[in-house]
Amino acid sequence: MSDPASTGLIHHPYVPPAGFEAPQPGVFKASTVFFPNVAALRASEGKDKSGYTYGLHGTPTTLTLEARIAALEGGAHCLLAPSGLAAIANVALALLQAGDEVLIPDNAYGPNLALAQGQLARYGITHQIYDAMNVADLADRISARTKLVWLEAAGSVTLEFPDLIAQARLCRTRGVICALDNTWGAGLAFKPFDLDGAGLGADVSVHALTKYPSGGGDVLMGAITTRDAALHARLQRARARLGFGVGANDVEAVLRALPSLALRYATADRAARELARWCAAQPAFAQVLHPALPGSPGHAHWQQVCAAAEAAEVVGRGAAAGLWSVVVRERHTQAQVDAFCDALRLFKLGYSWGGPVSLVVPYDLNAMRPAWPAHLSRGIVLRFSAGLENPRDLQADLAQALAAAGMA
Ligand SMILES: *Cc1c(COP(=O)(O)O)cnc(C)c1O
Repeated sequence: MSDPASTGLIHHPYVPPAGFEAPQPGVFKASTVFFPNVAALRASEGKDKSGYTYGLHGTPTTLTLEARIAALEGGAHCLLAPSGLAAIANVALALLQAGDEVLIPDNAYGPNLALAQGQLARYGITHQIYDAMNVADLADRISARTKLVWLEAAGSVTLEFPDLIAQARLCRTRGVICALDNTWGAGLAFKPFDLDGAGLGADVSVHALTKYPSGGGDVLMGAITTRDAALHARLQRARARLGFGVGANDVEAVLRALPSLALRYATADRAARELARWCAAQPAFAQVLHPALPGSPGHAHWQQVCAAAEAAEVVGRGAAAGLWSVVVRERHTQAQVDAFCDALRLFKLGYSWGGPVSLVVPYDLNAMRPAWPAHLSRGIVLRFSAGLENPRDLQADLAQALAAAGMA
């Protein structure tokens, strides 16, 4: 079978207009879609993919990207959303109602928790934060009211890799829908719907296409992928009611970037591993967090679902995203750490990742977590993401900034 992450994305079935074949699919823009007659207009009530009804619900362009993301992730159905966060909100609003509870890992993408705290709570939907690295804690918190469990691998900022297989199995055993934020894995590092090679996986995979699939740092988009038709229909109804749509030009940009997704991911992965190992040798850093590094929290779980897939010898599998974090030794002051960040020339200060430019963001975990995680050294956390620059230049940039801040 050909590699779904490279060959599959490039040779994905797409039927061009008669007599026209080219590398990229055409871009179709519409709010209005014409119906051939009144009977066809009346028959189009169901806003599904059986036919085109209105630009918001799908065009040949959006359906092409949805089909490709579904193939990339190993799902059957996909829905695009205006951002990764909109995709998260779409899942929550489709599956939860007053009286329900959602469980969120303590290292979740921050705005997912903010959605629960700031919006869902106002609609009578409660949430609990669980310890991402303790399956027993998740088990204890699942109750009859739990209707959705979020999983995330690796965790945001601190990049712990949870026991995804045990978490997914627990959700299945307890009959709770689990949704995985698969932005880090990007459909490449592991298979969200088949974590154990025997079909155990998440029910829903959410992917911020803003990151690696776009690859340019210039598009906001999200995707919601499922294998289950009934679940997909619930998510699709909610999306239609919420009015979530995506622009055709943005879809085109992602379609254009997809064929190089696996190459860009692998390049950032190599650079991040190299630089994380270099950081581990620097006296300024008490701890380096990268799931592929032995000793990093959850390394064994990363090996289980990511490195196991490496045996398949498929480009990008057994992989990791281009992210790593460091905990700065407590002897260094906040002012020194800020000076280090400001002294970086190639690493820019900015959120998001997956584009060509390397980035850094300082984080105060005290303000983000219910308690300081036992597996982390204390200190200021810096999250780096490798872009597509030469890793030697990036390493030199880190070295000169450490020296400039008196941290070498
Ligand atoms: C960036 C990100 C999102 C949200 O994506 P946006 O398109 O910026 O809204 C969600 N989850 C994770 C893990 C992310 O990194």
